[in-house]
Amino acid sequence: MKYVFVTGGVLSGLGKGITTSSIGLLLKSRGIKVTVIKIDPYLNCDAGTMNPYQHGEVFVLDDGSELDLDFGNYERFLDINLTGDHNITTGKVYLKVIERERRGDYLGQTVQIIPHVTDEIKRSITTVAERSGAEVTIVELGGTVGDIESMPFLEAVRQLLLERGREDCAVVHTTLIPILGPVGEQKTKPTQHSVRELRAIGIQPDIIVGRSEEPLKEHIKEKIALFCNVPKRAVISAPTARLAYQVPLFFAEQGLAELLLERLSLEPRGEDLTAWRAFLDHALHPQREVTVALVGKYTELTDSYLSYTEALIHAGAELRTAVNIKWIEAEDFSPDLLEDVAGVIVPGGFGERGAKGKLQAIRFARERRLPFLGICFGFQLAVVEFARNVLGYKRANSTEVDPQANPAVIDLLPEQRTVQEKGGTMRLGASPVLITPGSLAHKLYGQEEVSERHRHRYEVNPEFVQELEAGGLRFSGRSPDGRMEIGELAVADHPFFIASQFHPEFKSRPTRPHPLFLGFLKACLAREPS
Ligand code: GLN
Repeated sequence: MKYVFVTGGVLSGLGKGITTSSIGLLLKSRGIKVTVIKIDPYLNCDAGTMNPYQHGEVFVLDDGSELDLDFGNYERFLDINLTGDHNITTGKVYLKVIERERRGDYLGQTVQIIPHVTDEIKRSITTVAERSGAEVTIVELGGTVGDIESMPFLEAVRQLLLERGREDCAVVHTTLIPILGPVGEQKTKPTQHSVRELRAIGIQPDIIVGRSEEPLKEHIKEKIALFCNVPKRAVISAPTARLAYQVPLFFAEQGLAELLLERLSLEPRGEDLTAWRAFLDHALHPQREVTVALVGKYTELTDSYLSYTEALIHAGAELRTAVNIKWIEAEDFSPDLLEDVAGVIVPGGFGERGAKGKLQAIRFARERRLPFLGICFGFQLAVVEFARNVLGYKRANSTEVDPQANPAVIDLLPEQRTVQEKGGTMRLGASPVLITPGSLAHKLYGQEEVSERHRHRYEVNPEFVQELEAGGLRFSGRSPDGRMEIGELAVADHPFFIASQFHPEFKSRPTRPHPLFLGFLKACLAREPS
């Protein structure tokens, strides 16, 4: 087992996750089996209870783990399905150590950060790496070198480098090269300082990835090499890209794959990035353009909806179409905002705030025959809208929005009634969805059974299913135990109106767009003169 550790310096938000994913893709394209582990130095056990405004979207894995958006990048770039144990947080590590202490596993000892916490970190990393069967495990260390909370993890990495041997481990340090001054000079000092900090901990990086608005100038690479004690070819430029998916190719051009193979004594193997290049070619050179609205509640931080954006890029590339997203804050919704778009998405969400605007958007899409894709909360509100404005139940609602809803067309899942704790207690992860033959969903998927990822506490109240269906809202996807998973309007009534209880955005991949997003975009294009 070989390891690549990816650290970050200077400041957060440098795109360390994209660097990690890109390295993974480059190694994978050389026929090497890779996996990724992410370390988050925060005390939360996982990202499930974090506000999307602070941390971007919560990404859900097949196994139901709720993790941060980097996991979405790993899965999209590497086209793999990860599990929750690939995320190691301070919260998880301390919880384990304290549980052990209470059990008496350390009887007689003083339990300390070194060695007990660092041992637990090393154990977590190596267990997951070995179980994965990968040849190379890439470990991304969240946070910035120098943060107090990152210290135990960096110390654990230092120990691993020593124990495993330097020939089996590489360290990639990602830093910022700001451009300042009247002549736009690239400044290396912050990089020098952060590498010095890393070396003070006992870790010498092998490769430095310099994020900058522009490609790094040759003399800047030389300077970084000299001051940071690496060969010049190990200073890799990561200029701002139009699409994050370009980054692996930037790295490939600079010989990063060869460098890593050499560094880790892996056999050089041919490169296959054909599918990736074809996808990028389509994404970067579209022949058409379309604008769709996304009516959400965290629209000021579009990272809150990262997987939606990516799913639209994937579907857009397949159709050689540039997709512009018009972000609409649900609380400020007014129907005229939808006059200039070709389709509308109402994404997942929680709570009462913004629900009214989302309902108005759904009504507009239904009545004006605008292509509509509703996801999770968007699906539930589509059911509410239908019950109100088609079936005439003016006070229909979800009990999440109005506990006095009458009728409560959306209600807590029965197994949720006794749940008190908030962390990891929703209906989570992948489960089968059975698709009704002859439905729009069936036409899109071309399959009668699919697997999709969930994250919700509420569902369509089974008591109303018959009435909703009789009124024209067809539930064309159901779980094997009879829960409503997909709702659609008959094609004759509407060009494209479909909504799902599950989250298709988590399963879309660059070279395999999700059928629901693809179908939605096709419908949008059919509407717009091309
Ligand atoms: N708030 C809704 C529920 O918990 C929908 C969740 C979501 O959109 N992810 O069921």
